[in-house]
Amino acid sequence: MFLIAGVTPKLKVLDSTPKPCPVCGLHQAYYKRVDHYFNLFFIPILRVKKGEPFFMCERCERTVHEFKKEHSSAWPDIQETTCHHCGKKLEKIFEYCPYCGTRISK
Ligand SMILES: [Zn+2]
Ligand SMILES: [Zn+2]
Repeated sequence: MFLIAGVTPKLKVLDSTPKPCPVCGLHQAYYKRVDHYFNLFFIPILRVKKGEPFFMCERCERTVHEFKKEHSSAWPDIQETTCHHCGKKLEKIFEYCPYCGTRISK
């Protein structure tokens, strides 16, 4: 008998309320997390690794982290600003706060 077991990633949407995307401004960004599950006969039995939550837009299909990386090479001296709503630090290129979705006043 073969034992079909393995660890597979599973995407979890942490918050199903769409948030404004800091990149394109559309309300199509969600907080997601990839957890790794131990599977037995294709049934997830046990969570073996809890992923870090990330913010990803359905339209851009990029995480805020990736976006930041792309742009920091283009503009090495990106200025930082602070969200007036949640107080988190973010780059000035964002139109919307990637953490709470508040529009950043310039
Ligand atoms: Zn977007
Ligand atoms: Zn914020």
